Amino acid sequence: MSQSILITGCSSGIGLCAAETLLKKGYRVFATARKESDVEKLRELGLESLQLDVNDSTSIRNALATILEKTGGTLDAVFNNAGYVQPGAIEDLSRDDIRAQFETNVFGVMELTTLIIPIMRKQGHGRIIQNTSILGVVAMPYRGAYNASKFALEGFTNTLRQELKNTNIHVSIIAPGPIETKLQDNAHQHYVETLKGKQTIHTELYKEMEKFLILPPDKKHFITSEPDAVVKKLIHALESPNPSAHYFIGWAAQIFAFLRRILPDKLMDSIAIRSVRT
Ligand code: NAP
Repeated sequence: MSQSILITGCSSGIGLCAAETLLKKGYRVFATARKESDVEKLRELGLESLQLDVNDSTSIRNALATILEKTGGTLDAVFNNAGYVQPGAIEDLSRDDIRAQFETNVFGVMELTTLIIPIMRKQGHGRIIQNTSILGVVAMPYRGAYNASKFALEGFTNTLRQELKNTNIHVSIIAPGPIETKLQDNAHQHYVETLKGKQTIHTELYKEMEKFLILPPDKKHFITSEPDAVVKKLIHALESPNPSAHYFIGWAAQIFAFLRRILPDKLMDSIAIRSVRT
């Protein structure tokens, strides 16, 4: 029987690439998206798609109930992928901006994951794979809300892996460096909604940041990888008898993760400040 997997955030980018690739490999993919129009598009691609907004508990529970009805109560794997970047200096972000970032990148993942653990315990196996980021390990200026959310997800997942150690449920973290997706476009949208037009000490810097966020794909940074680089490691996390705890995607993520381990905080700060593309 084919392996079943629930993926969040399949409207674009890594989630879409993962859904299509795993479908081709013979997985039973439940490709979820928060907008009905994207659910329709995913169905047209031959995927079993359902509406799932990770900010909404009812939507999470309804999607999971429908999936369990279809599978007879089992689910082999979950890839918690949905997320976005709230850019901006910490001092310019409101409590609501930061709460919204955590609702999507942290609390939604926590809720879905804790609902799935009893299913995996009952069936005696499972794979839980979180899409964090190199920014869940290394701090960067003007990404404080996103950093905080991904650091939180790393902490949650590291604890979960320890708590599930003597079960047949494997927990892995995929921490990508820059990947060519709509993440920057969506970050720009969040910037427009929360910060654009506000007068702050960072206003001039935000103008530079905006130029970077709206760069066309062919002008993007040379360190950017394609989504299939993430999916390759996702497949390892799903299929290896001994999946890794952490997969860093792309050489930039690997170098930064290594530097983080060996350098003192203040030296790491200087490198992060110099390398940030505001
Ligand atoms: P993307 O193309 O913007 O995809 C993000 C996905 O998350 C979209 O499907 C988006 O749906 C979905 N999403 C956002 N809020 C949601 C919600 N409340 N409920 C359900 N889905 C929601 O960017 P991506 O790069 O593929 O991002 C996927 C994951 O990779 C994110 O967690 C991101 O933090 C992580 N990541 C990306 C990079 C990178 O450089 N691209 C690097 C490190 C980590 P809508 O279309 O409806 O907004």
